[in-house]
Parts: sequence; C-alpha cells; structure tokens
Amino acid sequence: MIVPMNLYSLVQRKGYLSPEMAIGWKIGMYVEECFDDFSDVGVAAVSDNDTTMALAHLIQRRGYLGQIVVPQSARPWDYHFYHLITGTQLSFTLIWKRIELPQEIRELESELCEHNYEELERYQASLDFLVRTILCEPVTSFSFIRQSRCRRLQIHNEEGHLIHCHYCGSLIPLDKAWDVEGDICCMSCAGLEPVWGICH
Ligand SMILES: [Zn+2]
Repeated sequence: MIVPMNLYSLVQRKGYLSPEMAIGWKIGMYVEECFDDFSDVGVAAVSDNDTTMALAHLIQRRGYLGQIVVPQSARPWDYHFYHLITGTQLSFTLIWKRIELPQEIRELESELCEHNYEELERYQASLDFLVRTILCEPVTSFSFIRQSRCRRLQIHNEEGHLIHCHYCGSLIPLDKAWDVEGDICCMSCAGLEPVWGICH
C-alpha cells in the first residue's frame, strides 16, 4: 500500500496504521486545501483518538503547534475547524458505516491470536482494504462536511437584553451572541472554543 509521506512518518513512530489515522490525515489535507494552511485555524475533536493524533501530526509537520481542543460536552460534529480571521467553519461528521470493518470481520477481533493464522490474515486483509479505501476515496465518501460562516452580533447592549440560543436554549446577552448562517446561538453552539483567540 502506498502511504503518503507525512502519514508514513507517523506510522513509523507508532508502529501501525489504523483506519482512524488515515481519516485524520485525509481530513487534515482537505482542510489545508480549503484554508491554504493551518495558521489561524482552531481545531476541535470529539475525542482524543488516532484520528486526532494523525491530525495533530500533520499540522505539526507543517510547522504549527497542532493543538486540538477536545471539549468536555457533546458537540454536533466529530471534527471542527474554525478560521479565526474569516469566521469560516468546517465541520466533519463521520459516516460510521463507511469507516467500520464489516460485522463478520469485527466479530473475529475477540479470537485473534498468532495461532489462528487464517483468521488473522483475513482480518488484516480487511483492515488494509479499509485503510486503502479511506486513503484513495474523497473525504465526502466517509464524512458529511458542513461549511458555514460565523460572526459576532454587532449590537450595543447597554440594557443587557438576553436571547435564547437557537440550539441549546441557554440565555445569553445579545452582544455575546453569534450568528451562524442566520441562527443566533451561544459561543459553544457556534463551535467556538474559549481557548481560541477570536478576532472578530
Ligand atoms: Zn447554545
């Protein structure tokens, strides 16, 4: 299997190549193409797994810190990228049935051992096929991508008026609300993490 150079350096370091690592690399390459590079891009992930590790690796290989926020509470995406200057957001939601091993192969997992060579080979072939498919197919084959623009409401709010967030319903001061494609919402529902320095 031909593994892209930047991903290969991670494979060498970790000693394996998982489908999740391939997903992280593909998503990272897609985002880099959209935003030109990773400067001024905030990154968040729902969990700290191989995908997140591969994403961080790619970003670091490009010369950036590769810090990825893993929020404590639920989010409506798996991976989220926010361009701090333009307010452009890219959200990725993975399509699980496209990135999982087939059921009959997953069932082999509990019995895999070096003595069970045939099943081990079957499992490895299926895993290789999945990784290869992820690497060769476009990101949209295994992920829904949503692009949106996000901007702070430019409102003077001396009276301290409050508004309900469109998504979570929490009450927020009007001047602290965000507009995401016409939906007025709170900072976290807008996909913004407090650790990102928001410039607009
Ligand atoms: Zn909210």
